Amino acid sequence: MSGLLTLNAGSSSIKFGVYLAADEPELLLLGQVENLGPVAQLMLSHPKKKTVEIGPADHVSAVQAILEAIEPVLQGHVVTGVGHRIVHGGKTFTGPVELTHQVMGQLETLVPLAPLHQPHNLAAVRAAQAAFPDAVQIGCFDTSFHQGHSFVNDAFAIPRRFYEKGVRRYGFHGLSYDYITDTLKREHPILARGRVVIAHLGNGASMCAIKNGQSIGSTMGFSALDGLPMGTRCGQLDPGVLLYLMEQGHSAEAITHILYKKSGLLGLSEISHDMRTLLASDDRRAAEAIDYYVFRIKRELGAMVAVLGGLNAVIFCGGIGENSPEIRARILDEMEFMGLSLDADANHANEHVISDGVIPVLVIPADEERVIARAVANHVMP
Ligand code: ADP
Repeated sequence: MSGLLTLNAGSSSIKFGVYLAADEPELLLLGQVENLGPVAQLMLSHPKKKTVEIGPADHVSAVQAILEAIEPVLQGHVVTGVGHRIVHGGKTFTGPVELTHQVMGQLETLVPLAPLHQPHNLAAVRAAQAAFPDAVQIGCFDTSFHQGHSFVNDAFAIPRRFYEKGVRRYGFHGLSYDYITDTLKREHPILARGRVVIAHLGNGASMCAIKNGQSIGSTMGFSALDGLPMGTRCGQLDPGVLLYLMEQGHSAEAITHILYKKSGLLGLSEISHDMRTLLASDDRRAAEAIDYYVFRIKRELGAMVAVLGGLNAVIFCGGIGENSPEIRARILDEMEFMGLSLDADANHANEHVISDGVIPVLVIPADEERVIARAVANHVMP
C-alpha cells in the first residue's frame, strides 16, 4: 500500500502525520517538531507519546528528522503522496492542488499576503520535494473553505481598486472548518444542513458562520490577525491605532512584530500567551485578558447568529475550545435567551454534546491532518 505524509509547517513547529492510503486513510503516526531553533524536539503523540531532543533544527533539518522518525512505521510502504497545509491560496485555489513548479510560483506571489506563514509552508514543500522526488505533492489551503463568500463578506469599504488587487477577506482555519463540517455531515446530517457557528480556539483563533455547509462569514479577514484576540495576535483593531503607531515612528516591521507576536492574551496579561497559565494565575491582568477574550467571542457569536438568521448548533474546537470547560462556560454564560445552556457535568468532562438547552453545543476535536491526508489519498488512489 502507498504511504502518505502530511506536513503542517508553522514558524516554530512542523506537525506531521503518516497514513496508509485508503478511502479513509489509516493513521500510523502523528507528531510534531517543536521549538525550531537551537533546541528543537520531536514529539510523537500517536500511537505512543514520546519526546526526542534533536538539537538545532531549521525547517529543512526538521523535515530530515521527521523522515528518520517515520521510516520504521512505514515498514517498506513507499510514500507516494505528501500533503501540505498552506495558509494562503489567494483567489485562485479553491481546493487541494498539485504543487507543480508553476503552482509554487503562484503561491510565492502570495507571500506578501501572509508573510509570517506562507514562507514556512513553502519551505516545507521544497524540503519534501527534495526528500520525496517521486511523490506527488499536494497543497491544501486554509483559505479555500471560505471561497464563495458573498461580496459583503469579501470586501472592505475602502476604494474598490484595492479589492480588485486582492485586498479581501479571505478567512483562515479552513482545514479545521472543513473537518468539522464533514464530521457534522457524517454524524449529525440534520445539523449539517442548518445554521452553525464554529469557534476554533487555539493559539490562533477564529469563528466561522456556516449555513448548509458553506462558510458565510469568518472573523479572520485579509490576514490571520483580525477577529478574536489570540495567544499573541491582536484580533480586531481600529485601523486608526495603526495610523497612530506609524505617526509615533514605529516602522512597519515593528508594528508587525507587536501585532503578531506581542499582542492578544500575552499583550493584555503581560504574563503568558497560554490560556492554562492565565487560568491558573491570580494576577488581575490575567483575569482581564481572559475577560476580554470571552467578551470578544460573545460579541462575534451574537453577530454571527444575526447574519445567519438563526442558530442550530455551536461547536468548539482547538486547544482551548476542546479542553477548557471554564472558558466554554464563560462564553455561554447568560446565553439562555438564545437557547444556549450547558450541562455542567458534560461540559466538565469535555463530552461530545455539552448542552442541555434547545440548541446543541458540541465539542469536536479538529483534525486538520486528516483533511490533508484525505486530499492526498484522493490524488494517489486509482
Ligand atoms: P495551535 O493553534 O498552536 O495548534 P492549540 O490548538 O494546541 O494551538 O491550542 C493551544 C491553546 O490551548 C493554549 O492556549 C493552551 O493553553 C490551550 N489549552 C490546552 N489545554 C487546555 C486546557 N485544559 N485548559 C485551558 N486551555 C488549554
